[in-house]
Formats: sequence, C-alpha cells, structure tokens
Amino acid sequence: MTKNAKIELPTTTGPVRQPGDSGYDAEIAGFQTAYTHRPALVVTAAHAEDVRAAVEYAARHGLPVAVQATGHGLSVPADGGVLVNTRRLTDIKIDPATRTARVAAGVQAGQLIEAAVAHGLAPLNGSSNTVGVVGYTLGGGLGLLAREFGYAADHVRAIEMVTADGRLRRLEPGDEPFGAVLGTGGNFGIVTALELELVPVTTVYGGQLQFDAALVPQALEGWRVWTQDLPEQLTSAFNMMTMPDIPQLPPHLRGRYLGTINIACTGSEAEGERLVAPLRAIGARFTDNLKVMPYLDTHAIHSDPPQPHPYTGTDALLSELPADATDAFLEATGPGSDLPVVAGFRHLGGALGRPGPYETAVDHRDAHYVARAIALPGADDRSIADGLARIRKTLEPWTIGTNLNFLYGGGDRGEAETRAAYRDSTYDLLTALKSEYDPHNLFRFNRNIPPR
Ligand SMILES: Cc1cc2nc3c(=O)[nH]c(=O)nc-3n(C[C@H](O)[C@H](O)[C@H](O)COP(=O)(O)OP(=O)(O)OC[C@H]3O[C@@H](n4cnc5c(N)ncnc54)[C@H](O)[C@@H]3O)c2cc1C
Repeated sequence: MTKNAKIELPTTTGPVRQPGDSGYDAEIAGFQTAYTHRPALVVTAAHAEDVRAAVEYAARHGLPVAVQATGHGLSVPADGGVLVNTRRLTDIKIDPATRTARVAAGVQAGQLIEAAVAHGLAPLNGSSNTVGVVGYTLGGGLGLLAREFGYAADHVRAIEMVTADGRLRRLEPGDEPFGAVLGTGGNFGIVTALELELVPVTTVYGGQLQFDAALVPQALEGWRVWTQDLPEQLTSAFNMMTMPDIPQLPPHLRGRYLGTINIACTGSEAEGERLVAPLRAIGARFTDNLKVMPYLDTHAIHSDPPQPHPYTGTDALLSELPADATDAFLEATGPGSDLPVVAGFRHLGGALGRPGPYETAVDHRDAHYVARAIALPGADDRSIADGLARIRKTLEPWTIGTNLNFLYGGGDRGEAETRAAYRDSTYDLLTALKSEYDPHNLFRFNRNIPPR
C-alpha cells in the first residue's frame, strides 16, 4: 500500500493514517525505541466501535492486526497491516461497592492507581506506572503485591474485546475464550475494556535496600536465604545493574554497580521492620529508604525509568533457587560478563502458586522465582541474542518455563520462548482455541500462538 493510493479506509471516528501522513510517526511511537510498528494503516481508536471497525476492515482485506497502548511490550513489530492504537481510550470507572474498576484499553497503571486510591482501594499493578493495564493483565500481571494476591489475570471480572470475526463481545468467567485471553497477550483479539477487582490496600511498607558492588554477592545470598521462609504479605525482588552514566541520574550513582532489594509489604511498619531485619544485617546499605508509603507512591519501590528507551530481554521461571543457581547467574551477568545486562530475580510463590478462581492461560504456577536479564539492543542483535541464551543456559537445571510479560522485544527469536510459557497440555488447548477464534492468525504481531 503506497501513500495516497486510492484505497478504501476503515470508517472510524478516530483518525486513520498511512505512512507519510502527518501524525503517523507520533501514532506508531512507543516506550520501546529499539523496535517500532510500521503498519500500512494506523487507526487511533476514539472508542470501542473504532476498534471493531478496524478489525472488521483488516479481516475483510486479509491484513494482520497489531495493537499498541504504550509500546512497553512490543515484541514483533508490525510490518504492514493495521495497527490499532488504543492510547486515547482512557476511561476509568470505579465501583467502590463491588471493589471493581472498568478500565478502557489505553489506561496506564498510574492513572488507575490514582483513580483507585481516591476510594481507599488499589489495583494489582506491576512495577511501572506507565505500563498499560490491559497489556500487563493479558500477559499475566506480576504485581508489587503478587505473593499476597496472585496474578492480576486472576482478578478479572469481565473482558470486552473484538475478535477476528469483527464482533465486539463481552466475556465473563465460564465463557469461551475468557480464560485463554488471560495469559496470552493479544493472541485472541483486541480488548477494548476490562473489569478488574481492586484490593483494600491504602499503604505499603516498602522501598529499596541498595548494596555497593563489593557487597552484591553477600546481599544476593542473604536475599536468597531470606526468601525461603517469608509470609505472603511480603513480595520482593533482587536487581543488579551498572547504573547508566546519564545526566538524569545524580553524580554519585552514575556508572556505579549496585545490587537492589525491592520490598513491598502490606503489614504494619513494625511488622515490616521485623521482617527485613535479616537483610539490614547483611551490611552497609548504599540506600535504605524503607518506610510506610501511601499506595500512590509505590512506583518508587522499583523506580523504573519513565522515559522511552531501547531494551531486549529474556526470563526464566525457576522451580527453586539454590546457591549454585545464584552463583552461576551472578557470574554470567555481573560487571565482568560479556554482555552488560540489568539482571535479577523476583520472588514468587504464595498466592501465585495457587490456581486462580477460574482457569486462565497463566501457567507454571509451581515456579518459586523468575530470573530476568535485560540488555541494550545494538548493531549486532545476533550476539545479544547469543548472550541472553548463554545467561538462560546457566539457569537451565532449575528452569521450568518463561513468563510472557518479561520477554522483552526480540520477538523474532521468540517462538521457543513463547511456547515455554505454557505446559504442553495448555499449549495444545491454546492452539486449538486459536484455530477456532483466529484461524488466519490475524493477531500475529505478538508473542504468537499460531493456529494449528
Ligand atoms: C519498565 C517496565 C516495567 C514492567 N513491569 C512489569 C511488572 O512489574 N510485572 C509484569 O507482569 N510485567 C511488567 N512489565 C511488562 C509489561 O506488563 C508488558 O510488556 C505488557 O505487554 C505491556 O503492555 P502495554 O500495553 O503497556 O504495552 P504495548 O506494547 O502497548 O502492548 C504490548 C502487547 O500487549 C498486548 N496488548 C496491549 N493492549 C492490548 C489490547 N487492548 N488488546 C489485546 N492485546 C493488547 C499486545 O499483544 C501488545 O503487543 C514491564 C515492562 C516494562 C517495560
């Protein structure tokens, strides 16, 4: 399709743009700057009916469809086809009586948090306030309070979505393909809104303990041992990285290798202090800002970068985390490693280890940790892919699969990674349902589950 070619366009209220049109570049831009969708058409939906019209148009013309809310989770960039940009769908309705939120497809975590805290409630969001609520939840949604409440995908009351046949459907637990949509990203259609449960949490005891390079091995070992006996109200992570040498950071942080323990606990301050005492006993902290904070401030627990940037990464769900595993991982990802990465672990278990109230595609619930490694894509993507594969290999003896949400970018290397998110029986079921609901694989610009 060339610019200004005389083609029929979908009839929508929101704008439809082709390459070369003014505004096209702004509509395809996202948080992930290493990869960008390059669709033949981008439809900026103004309401759910625009999403329906765009999908119906694409199906009629045999064009594949991509969807973007923020671009945080772009895996396979669209090359041609239709991109539906949902960022203008920002409606949020909170019902305090039922503790639910109806969230349109373009809502970001920070916007939902702000709306929920006004009612003394909180969503089950992840580490970054700028991630899209829908994309996060469809990938499972591993949140700040995950060990206490489980995956965000286990707290969905209804899904409004457009399927490949151009129908706008409302699905509730028990309807097909409700469960298959939760844990598979955008494989089954474009969600226009979700109804989500909120939790009655107003404050969190949390923040960061940071350790300087020399103490990182002891801090990792201390965290590893500490996580083996913790109540579910405490969710934590361990991250290791060389801080970037950029002017946005204060001078004392630039270029410094640090190990950070991220803590979120719904207990009282006294309870929190008691639980983290063994971590403080590890040694001197470069940063120690643990305190009781309003839920609104919890984005500070991980301090994820808010500005768009390039990244690619992999993950491994682990059955257990013995010292051999952390030693090997530290060796492969530390300051002396071939591939500079941001690396670490999140502690799972607790409610994450139990089945949710209805079946979903979120699998491998017996994982006790997830390891992550995130690299900066460069001129030589092959050597980065090889480097990430080497890191994954160090954890192979304990790896039982992948977590869909933490597979960043590089979707072209991804079929095996995507498949590893599911046990064989789950994958079989998902491919059968994909054949039924999206037989031509219209929704393929994602961590794709192809039809049979
Ligand atoms: C800084 C950062 C922090 C993160 N922290 C966490 C975390 O703590 N826990 C966690 O679980 N994940 C986390 N993630 C991963 C994140 O949840 C996924 O990348 C998610 O896919 C992002 O969704 P998005 O809509 O923001 O991104 P987008 O790039 O806009 O969308 C990504 C994909 O989500 C699907 N999708 C988005 N919107 C729709 C829709 N309306 N209908 C159907 N499919 C849709 C599509 O497959 C799309 O390709 C983080 C990512 C980043 C970059």
